[in-house]
Amino acid sequence: MAAIIMDGKTLAAKIKGQVRLRTEGMARKPGMAVVLVGEDPAALAYEAGKRKDCQECGIYYDTFRLPRTVSQEDLLEVIGALNGREDIDGILLLLPLPRHLNEREAVLAIRPDKDVDCVNPANLGQLLLGGEGFKPCTPAGVMRLLKEYGVDPAGKHCVVVGRSHVVGKPQALLLLEENGTVTVCHSKTPDLGAECRRADILVSAAGRPGLITGDMVKEGAVVIDVAMNLDAQGGLCGDVAFEAVAPKASFLTPVPGGVGPVTRAVLMENTLTAALRHGKG
Ligand code: NAP
Repeated sequence: MAAIIMDGKTLAAKIKGQVRLRTEGMARKPGMAVVLVGEDPAALAYEAGKRKDCQECGIYYDTFRLPRTVSQEDLLEVIGALNGREDIDGILLLLPLPRHLNEREAVLAIRPDKDVDCVNPANLGQLLLGGEGFKPCTPAGVMRLLKEYGVDPAGKHCVVVGRSHVVGKPQALLLLEENGTVTVCHSKTPDLGAECRRADILVSAAGRPGLITGDMVKEGAVVIDVAMNLDAQGGLCGDVAFEAVAPKASFLTPVPGGVGPVTRAVLMENTLTAALRHGKG
């Protein structure tokens, strides 16, 4: 069997098109602000991507580039000012922050109703309770891909590789919410291969190129590669050995073009949701 390749670009275009359609009819447009500390080229590229996404979706966009040496006080002041601005519905603070800054305090400062990337513990807590808060964009994007391709986690054995706050843990919760039976693996898991071979749905978010080899995948499994790693040539690659896994999996995401674009589209959708909750329409 050759896997069906899950096309994240097409799904992202569909989601963004729906957002665009909704914002076109709005008298007061949704607004997003990105706060970027430092000059990291990857973060700058990421920020440029958000600007483009917002333009495509009819979302007002503002960006705050703060020097690497910014003080905690000044960073909190910027976040506080954005919290108070009516034209801004979503705040995205690019992480990680330089070491001298207190990241926990910074994410706590983002008003939960503007926390469209779900980094504030208030929204992460809502996730645990199955509440109405924003869901983190990457795990939510994975769920959208599964739904788009008719993959229902209910009754399936789901294995998540990675336990970070941004991907692994929330992913496990979202799969559980959809009635999957979930195993979470990490760097101390003794026999990763054995765990992965039990998976009907395997989600890898370890950030280790080639970690998931063909022999670690059950025949017919759905394999979602969240990772975005750089290969030896500087190109983008995931955790999954694509060529070896494709003949065994039933569905498989490519890197690039899989989870990444859907993550970006979900962020736009969350910003629209925030605006609607703020009474814009
Ligand atoms: P992270 O914070 O570094 O977490 C990586 C997780 O993988 C950790 O829990 C770690 O275990 C586990 N791990 C590492 N090596 C392992 C191994 N050999 N076997 C089993 N588990 C292992 O990374 P992250 O922020 O979650 O991101 C993970 C990947 O997803 C990265 O490649 C990142 O670029 C990508 N990503 C993609 C998107 C997207 O939109 N597609 C969004 C966010 C992140 P320990 O906890 O034991 O250390």
